[in-house]
Amino acid sequence: IHSTSKVHTIACIPGDGIGVDITEAAVQVLQKLSQTLGAFEFDFTTFDWSSEKYKERGWYMPEDGLEQLKKFDAIYFGAVGWPDVPDHISLWSLILPIRKALSQYVNVRPTRILRGTESPLMKCSRSDLDWIIIRENSEGEYSGQGGTTHENTPFATATEVSIFTQPAIERIMRFAFETAKSRPRKKLTMVTKSNAQRHGMVLWDKVFYQIKEEYPDVETDKMLVDAMTVRMVLHPQSLDTIVATNLHADILSDLAAALSGSIGIAPSSNLDPTRKNPSMFEPIHGSAPDIAGKGIANPVGAFWSAAEMVRWLGYGEAADGLMECIENVTGAGIKTKDLGGFEGTKRVTDAVCAEIEKTL
Ligand code: ATP
Ligand code: MG
Repeated sequence: IHSTSKVHTIACIPGDGIGVDITEAAVQVLQKLSQTLGAFEFDFTTFDWSSEKYKERGWYMPEDGLEQLKKFDAIYFGAVGWPDVPDHISLWSLILPIRKALSQYVNVRPTRILRGTESPLMKCSRSDLDWIIIRENSEGEYSGQGGTTHENTPFATATEVSIFTQPAIERIMRFAFETAKSRPRKKLTMVTKSNAQRHGMVLWDKVFYQIKEEYPDVETDKMLVDAMTVRMVLHPQSLDTIVATNLHADILSDLAAALSGSIGIAPSSNLDPTRKNPSMFEPIHGSAPDIAGKGIANPVGAFWSAAEMVRWLGYGEAADGLMECIENVTGAGIKTKDLGGFEGTKRVTDAVCAEIEKTL
């Protein structure tokens, strides 16, 4: 119908548990958005790479899996992991190799209190909590380096080596400063543990101060990660853009999501800022086996991730429009149980679709 609209190819990896439910919901919303606006179209290809299939076939991703993914414009990911497969196997079979092979060296995790929802913190209003966490996504504590000696003896000894390199720190810092600069408050907080870890964390500090010279208009401060958790809880309004290592940002963004109301709303973007490879969009939550198959998973984190994908593909206005529709729905009290509501995944999804049709 819309012969002039641009077609974007999207690789869809629903994965396990509620990953399947929320990916289906996100695809429905993305299709409604493209049909309603007519400026772009999505061509989805679904890959059944999951723990369930791993148990059947013995692999998560085929040998040429990464090559297949490289051909798409973007990747939409649900969640992977199931209790009967050790988590480090599922993680290292799918999500971590994709992030690495496709140079998705930035992980962007915004946190806000959406309309009609509230923070578990007393006295924390919507205007008090509006953060964006920039997570280093390519090295650090999740480098996978190390090993075990004296395995299966009482003296088993394991090393887990963190890798920090100047070029990787520089590129994440530049991205963080650019992000901070683009936001109204122009404020960046850098998080390390450089009092106790005296090599990699000290290099982070050093590179941070170097790059800071290029951004005189960005106000900065530096926090130790332990003190940072306290500040997020007690003084949320003092923070804006936050940059941290792979491990620290992983932990801080779960805390951030909980403080904003539920882990079920939090989105993330795994970006290759050079755009040489497709970027990947996924809610931060896992497969949530405790609620899988019950039709009650909150799809908002999946919708928000979809909005960020739409933005990355070049449609900022459409992304803002989608966010507006999501907040009109939460604002009207149409919410899942984790947000204090009474609705299931389908009802929230249908409401967002109806809202798109009505307002966009
Ligand atoms: P991962 O290791 O992949 O991060 P996890 O074990 O940390 O996963 P999640 O799967 O994220 O855990 O779930 C943590 C808790 O949050 C569970 O009790 C789950 O039910 C709840 N939860 C997660 N996502 C949602 C959602 N979309 N809607 C409602 N509840 C959710
Ligand atoms: Mg987790």
